[in-house]
Amino acid sequence: MRKIALVTGGSRGIGLAIAHELAGNGYDLAINGVRDEERLGAVLDDIRSSGARVVYCRGDISISADRQSVYDMVLNAFGRVDLLVNNAGVAPLERLDALELTEESYDRVMRINLKGPYFLTQLIAKQMVKQKMADNSFSGTIINIGSISATVVSPNRAEYCISKAGYAMHSRIWAVRLAEYGISVYEVRPGVIRTDMTSAVIEKYDRLIAGGLNVQPRWGLPEDVARSVLALASDSFPFSAGEVFMVDGGLTINRL
Ligand code: NDP
Repeated sequence: MRKIALVTGGSRGIGLAIAHELAGNGYDLAINGVRDEERLGAVLDDIRSSGARVVYCRGDISISADRQSVYDMVLNAFGRVDLLVNNAGVAPLERLDALELTEESYDRVMRINLKGPYFLTQLIAKQMVKQKMADNSFSGTIINIGSISATVVSPNRAEYCISKAGYAMHSRIWAVRLAEYGISVYEVRPGVIRTDMTSAVIEKYDRLIAGGLNVQPRWGLPEDVARSVLALASDSFPFSAGEVFMVDGGLTINRL
C-alpha cells in the first residue's frame, strides 16, 4: 500500500524536490502551497508521471481556516496521513538590519515559519494518534525543514533566524510529545540551497562559497535535502528521536 505524505510548500524549491523524491519511492502526495492550482503549470503532472496520486491543497499555513481546509482536503482525498513534511517557509521580504527591523515583517515571518507549522502539526498529529489507536502497526513521521539560521546569526534578517531557532524547539516538543504513539519527529537543517528563496543573493553566496563558506565547495541543491528527507521517512534512523540532520555541506563546522 502506498503511504500518504503532506508536503507544505511542495510546489517549488526544496518542497518540490521532496515531493518528487517521495513520489518516486512509494508515496502518494498532498502538496500544499499558496498559489492557485492554475498557476502551477505542469508541476503536479510531472510528479504524477512517477505513478503517484497527487492532490493540491491550496492554503496559507499561517491562517487557521486555511490549515483546517488543507487538513480536510488531505483526509477527503486519502483518508489518512503517514508523513507530514513541514517545509513551507519564507524569508523576510526585505533584508533590514536588526536595528531597523519592522514589527510587520517580524510578525509575518513568525506567523508563517513558526505559528503555522505548530498548529498544522497539532491537527495532523491528532489524526496520526487516531490512526495509531485504530491500528497499532501504524508509524507516523513528521519532518521539519529548519535552517542553519537556527544557530548562525544574520543581523540583517533577525526575524528569520529567530523563527528558525524557535522552530528547533518546535521539533523537539513534538518529538517528545508524540514518541508514545510511535510517531518519529526529526528536523532537517539545510545550509545555503539554490532556490527562489536565495535567488536575490546568488552573487553574494557565489562569492562566499568560492571563499570557503562550505566544506563541500558548492551550492546545496533541493535534491540534497530531499534525499535526507526520504532516508528519515524510510525509518533508517529508528533510535534518533528529535534529532537534527544537517544538510549544509559542512558550513557549520567551526574551523580555524
Ligand atoms: P521557496 O521560496 O523556493 O518556496 C517556498 C514554498 O513555500 C513555496 O512552495 C510556497 O508556495 C510555499 N509557501 C510560502 N508561504 C506559504 C504559506 N504561508 N503557506 C503555505 N505555503 C507557503 O523556498 P525554499 O524551497 O528555499 O525553502 C523551503 C524551506 O526550506 C523553508 O522553510 C526555508 O526556510 C528552508 N530553508 C531554505 C534554505 C535555502 O537556502 N533556500 C536554507 C535553509 C532552510 P507557492 O509556490 O504557492 O508560493
